[in-house]
Amino acid sequence: MRLSKDGVSTLRDDPQEAELASHKLMLRAGMIKKLSSGLYTFMPLGLRVLRNVEQIIREEMNRAGAVEILMPALQPREIWDRSNRYEVMGDGMFKISDRQHREMVLGPTHEEVITEIISNEIKSYRQLPRTLYQIQTKYRDEIRPRFGLMRAKEFIMKDAYSFDVGWDEADTSYDAMYNAYGKIFRRCGLRTKIVEADTGPMGGNRSHEFMALADAGEDGLLECPSCSYAANVERAERGAAEPKLFPDNEKEAEPVSTPGMRTVEEVSTFFKSSPDRLIKTLIYLADDKPIAALIPGDRTMNDMKLARAVGAETLILANEQTVLEATGAPVGFAGPSGLELPIYADMTLKGYKGALTGGNQADTHFINIDLERDATIEAFADLAFGETGDPCPRCNDGKLVAMRGIEVGHVFKLGTKYAKSFDATFLDAEGKEQLVVMGCYGIGVSRTLQAAVEQNYDKHGILWPMSLAPYKITMLGLQPDDEETMRICDNIVDAFRSSGEEVLFDERDERPGVKFKDADLVGCPIRIVVSKRSLEKGAAELKLRSSEDSEFVPIADIHERVMSIINKEMQN
Ligand SMILES: [Zn+2]
Repeated sequence: MRLSKDGVSTLRDDPQEAELASHKLMLRAGMIKKLSSGLYTFMPLGLRVLRNVEQIIREEMNRAGAVEILMPALQPREIWDRSNRYEVMGDGMFKISDRQHREMVLGPTHEEVITEIISNEIKSYRQLPRTLYQIQTKYRDEIRPRFGLMRAKEFIMKDAYSFDVGWDEADTSYDAMYNAYGKIFRRCGLRTKIVEADTGPMGGNRSHEFMALADAGEDGLLECPSCSYAANVERAERGAAEPKLFPDNEKEAEPVSTPGMRTVEEVSTFFKSSPDRLIKTLIYLADDKPIAALIPGDRTMNDMKLARAVGAETLILANEQTVLEATGAPVGFAGPSGLELPIYADMTLKGYKGALTGGNQADTHFINIDLERDATIEAFADLAFGETGDPCPRCNDGKLVAMRGIEVGHVFKLGTKYAKSFDATFLDAEGKEQLVVMGCYGIGVSRTLQAAVEQNYDKHGILWPMSLAPYKITMLGLQPDDEETMRICDNIVDAFRSSGEEVLFDERDERPGVKFKDADLVGCPIRIVVSKRSLEKGAAELKLRSSEDSEFVPIADIHERVMSIINKEMQN
C-alpha cells in the first residue's frame, strides 16, 4: 500500500478526549477515527489489524470444532421477554421500533437468538454436542463510553455458544473453548491472566475471565504467587486472618462525644488510631428490608459478596431517612451495639476487641468495643474486597497481589436457564425429553486489538506484535523524486508481494524526519529505509521497531533476511 494514496493521516499531538495511552495512539496513528461518543470508524490500517485478530480467532475456533454462523444484530423484543432479560438489561440495551411499531432491540449479546434457533434445530442426542460462533457487531448503550474501543456503544465481538446432552459433557465443551482462548490470546501477543469470575446477570455456575494485564485496565484482579489462584476482585475470596486486638481491649465499651465526625478519617484522627480500628457500619436494604453490614474502616464493602452472604436478590445502600429510622442516628454514627437489625460482619472482624464504632446517636462513638461481647452478629462472612497482602484462600503461605487488567475474553457455563425459556430440548438415547446444557463464550475483538496496543507501546508510538501488525514491513523511500531509488523500492515491494507480504510503502514527498516519526507511531515491526546514501553501499537500512540498532543489508539479501525474521516470529 502506498501511503500517499491511502488516506492514512497521522496526528502530531495527543487528541484531547483520549485518556488511555492506547486510545491516543490509535487515534494519532490514524488507525481509528471518532464519529461521535463511543462510535469509531476503522481506517485502513486499523481495519487490517482487526482482520488479523479475526483471522486468528477463526482459525482457533474452527480448530476447536466450533462452526461459524452470522445472526442478525436486530432482534425482536419478544425473545428478550421470553428469557426475562428485557427488564434486566434495562437502559443498557438500545431499544427501537420498526415502521409497524414493533419493538426491536440492537443485540448486546445473542443467547436468546441462538437458543431460539437451536430449539428448532436439535431433535436428538445424535445432533449434540454443537458449538456455534459468530464475529459480529454488538451494541450497548454505555452510560459513559470511553477509552476508545475499550468501552464503545458499537463494538465487535466473537460470541460462541455450546450445546450438550448433560452437565459433564458441557464441561468438555467449556474446556475446549477455554483452551482455544489461551491460544488465541497468545497468538495475538497478549500477556493475559485467567481468573475466576462472577457469573453476574448472565446466570450460570462456572466462569473464567481472560484479562490482558495493563496498569490502566478497568478491572481489578488478585493473584496468589504461591499457587495458581487468581480471581476477579469482584469475586476473589480471602483466607482467614488472625483476630485483631487493639489497646484497652478488655475494658467496658464507653460512649465518647465526637461532634460532626462522620468519616473514617475524621474519627481515626480524633482518636489518634489506625483506620482499621474503626468498625464501619453500613445500612443496606436487602430485598427491601434493612440490614447492617460491618467491615474494618480501612476496607471497601463488596456488595456482591454481601448480597450472596445475605441471600438477597436486590441490595442497595439505604438512604439518609432509612438510616435515621433504623439506627436512630444520622449517617456516620451507626454502630452494631444495640442495633436491632440483622448484622452481617466481615470475617476479619471475628474476635475484634478494643475497637471503635458509631454510637447510634448523633455525634457519638463507642470506644473499647468487643464485637462479639457488645453486639449480636447474625453471621461472619467474607464481605470486603480483597487487597494486596491478604492471605490466599487456597494455599497456606501465599499472600494475594493486586493487579489491573482489561477483560478481553469470558467463558461461562450457562446450564439450562435459556434452554428452559426457549424449550430447547432433545430426545436422549432412551427417547426421553431433556433440556440441552449450554455454555457461552465471548471475546471482545475490537477491545483485544486496543489491549494489544496498551501492552505494546513506547514514547514514539505503537509496537505491534508481528501477528497483528497492519503491515509487518514498512518501507521508507527517502528521495521519492529519485528514479533509481523508486525503482529499487518497487522491486523490493514486488518481491515481498509474491511472498504474500504487502508492504506499507511511504513514498510521500515529505522530509525524512516526518517519515521516521510516522513509521515509529504506526509501529510496523520491520522498517526498511532506501535512500541515495544506502544505495551508495548497494544496501537498504533494516531496523526492527523493538530495537534501537539498525544495519545495512545488501539489496540482493533484504528479501530473504526479512522473510526469515517474519517466519521465525510467526512460529513463536
Ligand atoms: Zn495461594
